[in-house]
Amino acid sequence: MSADVIDGKAFAAALKVGVAGQVNILKEKYGLIPGLAVVLVGEDPASQVYVRNKNKSTKEAGMNSYEHRMEPSVSEAELLSLVAELNHDPAVHGILVQLPLPKHINEAAVIDAIAPEKDVDGFHVINSGLLATGGRGMVPCTPLGCVMMLKDRLGDMSGLNAVIVGRSNIVGKPMAQLLLNENCTVTMAHSRTRELDAVVRRADIVVAAVGVPELVKGNWIKPGATVIDVGINRVEKEDEQGVKKTRLVGDVEYDKAVQNAGAITPVPGGVGPMTIAVLLKNTVTAACRQTGVEEPEI
Ligand code: NDP
Repeated sequence: MSADVIDGKAFAAALKVGVAGQVNILKEKYGLIPGLAVVLVGEDPASQVYVRNKNKSTKEAGMNSYEHRMEPSVSEAELLSLVAELNHDPAVHGILVQLPLPKHINEAAVIDAIAPEKDVDGFHVINSGLLATGGRGMVPCTPLGCVMMLKDRLGDMSGLNAVIVGRSNIVGKPMAQLLLNENCTVTMAHSRTRELDAVVRRADIVVAAVGVPELVKGNWIKPGATVIDVGINRVEKEDEQGVKKTRLVGDVEYDKAVQNAGAITPVPGGVGPMTIAVLLKNTVTAACRQTGVEEPEI
């Protein structure tokens, strides 16, 4: 048996079309154009690509995109001052500070300086607290995208065993909270977990967010389980001619897992594309909440 492949690219494309439709309604009915400000500090090549893609997708959805680039040597105070300016700008409904930041800047201080209602990444401590207590905050994009794909595939997830490997604040923990909200029985695994293989074997849903290439082995996957691979790892492999090439792999041993799983997200083309689409959706949500306008349905 081979698993169904969950096409994150197609899912994200459909969500983007839906968001563009929302933006059209907001413009026509209320003259409201949602705006997203993205702040990039330094010249990290991966961050530059992410920021470029976010900027492009925001414009394609009909929203305003404001890009702010700062030198790697910028002081924390200067960055905080830009965040404060954006917090007060009524044209800006969402603020995203691209991580990682240079070592001399305290990331948590910068994230917590963003107005929680404009924190479209959902990383602010108030938004984490709201998610944990069932309140209405902004939800982190990557885990929210994963849950959208899981719901689409599984419908009601009540009572299912979900195992999340990885407990970061940006993926693992919010993912656990979201699946708990869906009435899953949630287990969080991490680097100190004993017998990870046995833990994963019990899972109806596996979410891997570790950052270790192919850590979750294919034969750990329970037959028919749904596997969401969040990992993005660049690895070097030699081709048949002995030429070294880099390619992207996930945190799951895909080639073997695909033989056991009921459904699985590929890397690339799974979770990755959904993250940006959900960011756009979060920006629309933020704009509607800040202006007291009812969010159009997708
Ligand atoms: P972090 O490095 O912040 O967290 C990794 C987690 O994995 C930690 O909780 C760590 O445990 C756990 N871990 C590490 N090694 C092991 C191991 N051998 N066994 C079990 N658990 C282990 O990573 P992120 O959550 O930020 O990212 C995870 C992956 O997801 C990365 O590949 C990243 O690139 C990708 N990612 C993809 C996104 C997308 O849009 N698709 C968005 C964000 C991330 P401990 O806490 O004990 O140290």
